[in-house]
Amino acid sequence: MTLRQAGWIALYLLLVLTPQALLFLGEVPPGRDFWWNFSMALGFAGMAMMGVQFALTARIRPMTSPFGVDIIYLFHRYLAWIALALVATHFGILWLWYAERLGPTINPLQASWELTAGRAALVLFGLAVVTSEWRRLLRLEYGLWRYTHVVLATLGFAAAVAHILGIGYFTASPLNRALWLLATLSWLLLLVWTRLVKPLHQKREPWRVVEVRPGRNDVWTIAIEPDGHPGLRPFLPGQFAWLTLRASPFGLREHPFSIASAPEALPRLEFGIKELGDFTGRIGEVRPGDPAWIDAPYGVFSIDRQPDAEGIVGIVGGVGITPMMSMLRSLTAREDRRPVWLFYGNKHWEEVAYREELEALATRLDLRLVHILEEPPEGWQGETGFVTRDLLEKYLPPAPRPRLHCFLCGPTPMTAAAEAALHGMGVKASHIQTEIFELA
Ligand SMILES: Cc1cc2nc3c(=O)[nH]c(=O)nc-3n(C[C@H](O)[C@H](O)[C@H](O)COP(=O)(O)OP(=O)(O)OC[C@H]3O[C@@H](n4cnc5c(N)ncnc54)[C@H](O)[C@@H]3O)c2cc1C
Repeated sequence: MTLRQAGWIALYLLLVLTPQALLFLGEVPPGRDFWWNFSMALGFAGMAMMGVQFALTARIRPMTSPFGVDIIYLFHRYLAWIALALVATHFGILWLWYAERLGPTINPLQASWELTAGRAALVLFGLAVVTSEWRRLLRLEYGLWRYTHVVLATLGFAAAVAHILGIGYFTASPLNRALWLLATLSWLLLLVWTRLVKPLHQKREPWRVVEVRPGRNDVWTIAIEPDGHPGLRPFLPGQFAWLTLRASPFGLREHPFSIASAPEALPRLEFGIKELGDFTGRIGEVRPGDPAWIDAPYGVFSIDRQPDAEGIVGIVGGVGITPMMSMLRSLTAREDRRPVWLFYGNKHWEEVAYREELEALATRLDLRLVHILEEPPEGWQGETGFVTRDLLEKYLPPAPRPRLHCFLCGPTPMTAAAEAALHGMGVKASHIQTEIFELA
């Protein structure tokens, strides 16, 4: 763990625990026993965690860069369950052992508004977590889920704040009340920043599509250039962008795509987008001149984060080639002659995206290109099947391989098998990086 990572984790704990500590260090209301106060502690902890959940997905660059956005989203996902469990236990303890103090009914028309607000918050948080965890099972389309998630979480948090302030337990003193108001204000500012300020900033820096080109394996090249501004600051080859095409940046219509071009090609940016679903399935309808907006760069999947690497190993499958294209194009532009091994898995030879360009790059780089086909054509002399340890051993230099850095991107079964094989070959975990084209 790096110092910056440890610092952010410490800040997280501080944000979650401080409100509680301050509340309980203050005057504890009389006449309540341990379990009552324990239940309150759980409620406050859960609530503080729910509040910080908004910060985790706000893509605050100094916070995402030490971990990677995918890891932050994973935290977000698991912490949501913990926060929900804390809030549910808070309610459960009161409901089981202190039912008489909660009033005779949970009917929102008859119960007090502040208790109803608390129950509503619990239901809304529960729905936000359940619809996220089982989105596919519930057949919720991603775009619809995203809107629903933002609405459920925002309403849930607002209801919970109303509950806390309405009940006034532990928050009666001006200091505690001010603390909760401050927390609520920070949360509101975060909302305004992510939903208004950031999109507004994007709107002021528009991009234009300058090229749309079909490629093998239904991977379309979409190139964009800044429209009246200098564009993106240099990014690391392999990083990704949130791209909005032909829609307002306010509309939550952005999708993450690796930047396939090299930073040396700035201000132009290229993406390789595979036709797949609702948005990408219509990527071929994009036309030069269409407006685009980006929020970038993000991600830690880059050769530039491993400057001491003496050799680079790419193990990619299908459209997972895109971040590697950025790295290879960048190495070429920099005339970097470090050895590179690229293991590239595809089903058919005709589907190998960027095939011709890779062959051209191999003449300019010290690149060993190993195609692996699941269903090779007749007379195929190359590798077949999947990435295995034997296959990697066949091409990579013999152990020890202390300074080889490996970059894996592709379907999860492929990256999992490759990771296991590399571990077995003695490659250190810190020398293996994996990019998954799906956020938790
Ligand atoms: C870091 C990263 C880099 C990526 N790079 C590339 C790339 O270079 N080329 C490429 O073709 N694909 C890339 N992807 C995948 C790409 O983002 C999805 O294929 C695309 O968003 C699918 O959208 P859809 O509406 O066409 O498909 P759908 O069928 O609607 O969705 C398929 C899956 O894609 C994910 N997804 C859909 N919409 C979004 C969204 N708005 N935000 C986040 N995830 C979403 C969801 O998990 C969903 O289940 C990358 C993904 C990530 C996380």
